[in-house]
Amino acid sequence: MTASFRRALGQRFNPAGILFTVSVALRQPHLFLPHLSVRDMRSIDWAALRQVGFRGVVLDKDNTLTAPYLRSLWPPLADSLRECVQAFPGQVAVFSNSAGLREYDPDGSEARALEESIEGIHVIRHEAKKPAGSAEEIERVFGCPTSQLVMVGDRYFTDVVYGNKNGFLTILTEPLCLSKEPFVVQQVRKFESFLVSLWNRKRLKPVEHPLRCEAVKCVKDLV
Ligand SMILES: [Mg+2]
Repeated sequence: MTASFRRALGQRFNPAGILFTVSVALRQPHLFLPHLSVRDMRSIDWAALRQVGFRGVVLDKDNTLTAPYLRSLWPPLADSLRECVQAFPGQVAVFSNSAGLREYDPDGSEARALEESIEGIHVIRHEAKKPAGSAEEIERVFGCPTSQLVMVGDRYFTDVVYGNKNGFLTILTEPLCLSKEPFVVQQVRKFESFLVSLWNRKRLKPVEHPLRCEAVKCVKDLV
């Protein structure tokens, strides 16, 4: 099986990830709740986040920074990404379940192509698929604890769970482009929203984060 075929299949159907997610949902549902939810990256004041003590930003790729499975930045986000890179010079990275994940990008060619396409970002090469895995590689890259890092992504089951269980401040964004997303992912997304709405009705709270109160003042268009 070629790497590109496995990558395409794995991005659409991830049984190990589903099992992991179900077990987390049963035991620790609060891990699914982001600290903040916004429309997209344009709602985040990056310079303000830097001022209140954050040291770096970790971005998901598909439907957070780019349209699904494309390498180019979603054009309306250009100004926001530039402000992000200016606020956190050398400390903005992509952590994706496609580019940079050794299972689907074994020679790092996708990661390199993304770095060449989007100026100012580094793509983290890693072994484990979100939400599994620790943040040791990320802490090594950034040189600070994850409590000083922001994780931004569009999926509860991957970006938010991974970020929360590893101590990041988690910011959920709305997906950029649903029409290009595979049917299976759209269904999983609906299931995620259903579960989270249940937990919200039960007034479940996100995990504690030492800078959450300061971070609330650094975003607009909360959803
Ligand atoms: Mg995504």
